[in-house]
Amino acid sequence: MSVQDCIFCKIIAGQIPCTKIYENEFVLAFLDVGPVSEGHVLVVSKQHTSSVDQTDPRAMAEIAKVLPDLAGSVKKAMAADGYNVLCNNGASAGQVVGHMHFHIIPRKANDGVFNQWPAFQYPEGKAKEIGDKIRENISL
Ligand code: AMP
Ligand code: ZN
Repeated sequence: MSVQDCIFCKIIAGQIPCTKIYENEFVLAFLDVGPVSEGHVLVVSKQHTSSVDQTDPRAMAEIAKVLPDLAGSVKKAMAADGYNVLCNNGASAGQVVGHMHFHIIPRKANDGVFNQWPAFQYPEGKAKEIGDKIRENISL
C-alpha cells in the first residue's frame, strides 16, 4: 500500500477527521471508529510503515515513550480494570489498515472481548527446535 492510499496517513495529514487523543512530532493517538470497547484508542507513528518488523527502532521508541501514559489515561478515563495493547501485523494476524498501529483496548471483568486464547502445548523437542530457528534469524 502506498502512503497516498493510506487512511492513517490521511488522518495524520488532516485530510480525514479523527477524534484526536494525543499528538506530538512523531506520534498520533485517536479513537478507533469501530471500537471493540468504549475508549478503544489507536496509536500510530507519523512515519508510514506496514508492520513492526519494518519500523525503524527510533520510530518505535517514540511510540514506546508515550504508550505508558496513554494506556494509563485510557484505563483511568474509562474506569477499566485492565486493557490490551495489541498490534496486528499482516492480514493473517487480523491487520486491516496497512499502517502499523497499536490498539489500546480498555477492559472490564467478564466483558466478553477476546474470549478465546487458543493456547496449546509443544510436543517434546519442538520448543528447542523453534527457539533455535528464531534465534538464527535475529540480526541484533
Ligand atoms: P487492524 O485490524 O489492526 O488493522 O485495525 C484497524 C483499525 O482501524 C480497526 O479497529 C478500525 O476500526 C480502525 N479504523 C479504520 N478506519 C478508521 C478511521 N478512519 N478512524 C479511526 N479508526 C479507523
Ligand atoms: Zn500510512
